[in-house]
Amino acid sequence: MSAPDTVVEFHEVSKTYPGGVAAVRGVTLRVRRGELVAIVGPSGSGKSSMLNLMGSLDRPSAGRVLVDGHDVAALTDREVSALRATRIGFVFQQFHLAVGVPVLDAVADGLLYAGLPLRRRRSRAASALARVGLSHRVHHLPHQLSGGERQRVAVARAVVGGPAVLLADEPTGNLDSASGAAVLALLRELHAAGTTVVVITHDREIAASLPRRIEMRDGRVVADTSTEPTPKPTAESTAEPTTGAPE
Ligand code: ADP
Ligand code: MG
Repeated sequence: MSAPDTVVEFHEVSKTYPGGVAAVRGVTLRVRRGELVAIVGPSGSGKSSMLNLMGSLDRPSAGRVLVDGHDVAALTDREVSALRATRIGFVFQQFHLAVGVPVLDAVADGLLYAGLPLRRRRSRAASALARVGLSHRVHHLPHQLSGGERQRVAVARAVVGGPAVLLADEPTGNLDSASGAAVLALLRELHAAGTTVVVITHDREIAASLPRRIEMRDGRVVADTSTEPTPKPTAESTAEPTTGAPE
């Protein structure tokens, strides 16, 4: 069983790819609702493999992965697809927008699983685009957008369905520093509004500015640092963090 405030839970999770590369080795961790987590580590340390497991894009070779309370191994392929489509938002380094499809429809397509009529999908897409500050770009075509704007479209598409968790794999990796900072600021805003966010970054400054950092090396978690008290759904926002002994 998974606690109701838990969005992602790993128990001794390993991922070995065909050919024998052990990308993730015996990782146990928990991401709670409302957290903003950075995953950091050198290239090849298993960050993307771990994010793909969190997003049920991949199944573990060993161990248990629970996403939004569901044991991924116990679901059929169809159920995994539905879980992914409705409960998980992804943002990748490269966002490939279909040529000739206006921004509004690119985002509305993120709701294809929701079974809503096109008009409702478009109106939700318009709200998501407003959240990412792109209300003035809804009728633009992909080639008319900057890289930073495209990435904000990707974020809008990822959150349009109200996912349990937003997973971002180096979302600022292809952006200049100003656009990257804007995308990061957007992830913070979404987090402040209640979205759970896990973001891979190899920008040390970005990582250091986030409330929790999971550091990976050779497929293992070598550090897991929180600079803020773990959010509790029942805690009052005005409560002072306790500095004394744990209760
Ligand atoms: P990171 O995102 O930290 O750079 P990855 O999770 O992409 O690390 O990769 C971890 C290791 O797994 C690397 O050695 C990589 O080459 C290997 N790897 C990643 N994906 C695959 C795959 N689909 N098939 C085989 N090996 C893979
Ligand atoms: Mg990677």
